[in-house]
Amino acid sequence: MKLLVTGGAGFIGSHLADTLLAKGHSVVIIDNLSTGKQKNLNPKARFYRMDIRSPRLLGVFQKEKPRIAFHFAAQADVRKSVRSPQEDADVNILGSLNVLEQCRKHRTQKVIFASTGGAIYGNPFQLPTPETFPPEPISPYGVAKLTVEHYLQSYLHLHGLSFAALRFGNVYGPRQDPTGEAGVVAIFAKAFTEIKRPVIYGSGRQTRDFVFVEDVVRSAFLAAKSRASGIFNIGTGKETSVRFLAEELSRIYGSGLKPRFAPLREGELERSFLDCRKAKRIFGWEPKVSLTEGLTRTVRWVDGRK
Ligand code: NAD
Repeated sequence: MKLLVTGGAGFIGSHLADTLLAKGHSVVIIDNLSTGKQKNLNPKARFYRMDIRSPRLLGVFQKEKPRIAFHFAAQADVRKSVRSPQEDADVNILGSLNVLEQCRKHRTQKVIFASTGGAIYGNPFQLPTPETFPPEPISPYGVAKLTVEHYLQSYLHLHGLSFAALRFGNVYGPRQDPTGEAGVVAIFAKAFTEIKRPVIYGSGRQTRDFVFVEDVVRSAFLAAKSRASGIFNIGTGKETSVRFLAEELSRIYGSGLKPRFAPLREGELERSFLDCRKAKRIFGWEPKVSLTEGLTRTVRWVDGRK
């Protein structure tokens, strides 16, 4: 089957493209390589270096006519969205609309959208947070993801375009970029590799739902196979404190380095973890990789690059 992956040169999108190709599908990737990397691109995929906002997207859809679109390209940096909300909206809302319009015009059957479980609920009082909890995003990034979910609902009703919006927890694993405002696992792993003390902002008691990239990719695959449309949390249903994460990585590295503490950054959530039972009920997904296994595999990958 012909499948499109936007953002297929990025951290999650490249793993997704690899998995879809390994299952025998034909994969088309669209990515402007703004944060994605050429070396992540699977050579078996057909690659278009293109911005999702480009009018040239029409030509790709005319030529490729993908049956399913995995829309993973995004400005994925929450802090950048706070600094430049217009730029964030331009990519994450208008770019997504450009993708949806092409899907509608070219009879794509389903869109699998990479949404967020970490930035959409605000500071939820219900934990683990289910999909039914009223979203109240704080960052422009979260607002944009929620907006696209609304457009997906609209396209389902108006045009019959099926969709699954997957609200991911904190995804981690090989290929995650440790530079900039990246995921904390990649940043801590980089620190340990360079024999530097990892920096924890605040007490380190803030919690997150860390989900391994392989589990996330499987959720996208199963969501694509399912006939159901809707919004699904994709996490582990477990909360892990940032302090515990640093300790666990220190143990895996066999390092005696203790974290350094810095003042809490403005706007950081205290606790965040997701109730993921709906994904299990509707399309049989549940996470398989434990935190220790996922971290060990990530460390092995980071070490292999040295
Ligand atoms: P990433 O930055 O590695 O991947 C994003 C990809 O999109 C990159 O390859 C980038 O070059 C591409 N891209 C960005 N702007 C583009 C544009 N205008 N046109 C074409 N391509 C463009 O980030 P990731 O962590 O792999 O995230 C993938 C998706 O999952 C994003 O939609 C992100 O918002 C979402 N998500 C990620 C997490 C996480 O923890 N990593 C959590 C929730 C949601």
